[in-house]
Amino acid sequence: MTILVTGGAGYIGAHVVRLLLQRGDVVVVDDLSTGRADRVDHARMVRADLSLAAASYPLAELMREHGVTGVVHFAAKKDVGESVARPAWYYEQNVGGLLAVLRAMESADVSRLVFSSSAAVYGAAATDGRPVGEGATCAPMSPYGETKLVGEWMCRNAERAWGLSWAALRYFNVAGAGWSDLGDPTVQNLVSIAIDRVRRGEGVPVFGTDYATADGTCVRDYVHVADLADAHLAVLEHLAASAGDAAERTDPVFNVGTGAGSSVLEVLAAVGEASGADVVPLPVDRRPGDPASVVADVARIRDVVGWDAKRGLREIVGSAWEAAVAGSNHPPTGAP
Ligand code: UDP
Repeated sequence: MTILVTGGAGYIGAHVVRLLLQRGDVVVVDDLSTGRADRVDHARMVRADLSLAAASYPLAELMREHGVTGVVHFAAKKDVGESVARPAWYYEQNVGGLLAVLRAMESADVSRLVFSSSAAVYGAAATDGRPVGEGATCAPMSPYGETKLVGEWMCRNAERAWGLSWAALRYFNVAGAGWSDLGDPTVQNLVSIAIDRVRRGEGVPVFGTDYATADGTCVRDYVHVADLADAHLAVLEHLAASAGDAAERTDPVFNVGTGAGSSVLEVLAAVGEASGADVVPLPVDRRPGDPASVVADVARIRDVVGWDAKRGLREIVGSAWEAAVAGSNHPPTGAP
C-alpha cells in the first residue's frame, strides 16, 4: 500500500502521514506555502504546487513511479476571511488543485481518494442549533465553503464517469495535537488563539456573548486532530473493503465531529484547567458571518465506516497546551 498525501506537511495532513507510515509507504506532495517539511521527515516528500498554474506537473508519473494505490487530498487554502477577499485565488487553488489530482488519478489508474471537505459546505443549513446531517441542503456562506462543495461534486462526477472510489470528510472544528511536534495549526483556531493569549498573560476575545445559546457564546463541535486522523485511516479501509460495491454504498460524504457542542466559554474554561492559569474572557462584538451553533450529526460515519471520536474537549485542549509548551522552537510572540 502506497498512499499519496497532498498537503501532507500541513497540520492535519502530517498527523495522517504519521499514522500511514506505521502501515505502509507514503509519498507527500506539498508546496510548503504553509506546511513544514520537518513534520514529515520520514516520508518521501515532493515539493509541488497543484493549482492550475502548475497543472502540467507530472503527478500521474509520480503515481505510477511509486505504485500509488490511493490518495488523501489535503492540499488547499482554508482561511474563510481570505477566501472572501481573494475568491478567484481560492477557486484556482482548491478547485484547480483537486482537478489536477483527479486528472492524474484517472490517467495513472488510481481509483481511491479521500477528500478533505468542511462543515463550511453547510453554511446557512447548519445554523439552527440542531446537529446537521449530511443530507442537509448545503448553502455555503464563503468562497472557501463553495470550493469544498464543488470538490465533492467533482468527485461524484468522477465516480460516475470513470469509477473513482471516494469519500469526502466534512471536518468540524479541528484542534489539539496527536504528537506534540504537530500541534500548531496553519490557520489559528479558538483553541490555539486562547493558548497563545494565556501564555502571554493576556485575556481572550470572545466574539459575541448575546447569541441564542445556553451561555450566549457560539457553540462548535471540536474534534481532536488525532481522532480526525484515525477517521482517514478508517475511511481508506472502508473504501478498500467496499471496492466494486459502488451501488451498495451510501453517498460517501461523512461528517467528522463528536456530535457534541462546546461554547466559547467552555473552551476557555478547558484552557484554564489545562494551563492552571486564570483565563480572562474579553467580550467583544460578534465576528461577522459566525453562526450561533454548528454541531455534527455523526450517525453516518459511525454506522457506515464504524468510526467514532474517542477524545473530548479536555483532551483536545490538554494536548494543544502540551504541544504549545513543548514547542519552544515555535514560541508565541512575546512569550518568555
Ligand atoms: N472565537 C472567539 N475568539 C477568538 C477566536 C474565535 O470567540 O479569538 C469564536 C468564534 O467566534 C467561533 C468559535 O470561537 O464562534 C470558533 O472559531 P474558530 O475561528 O476557531 O472556528 P470557526 O468555527 O470559525 O471555523
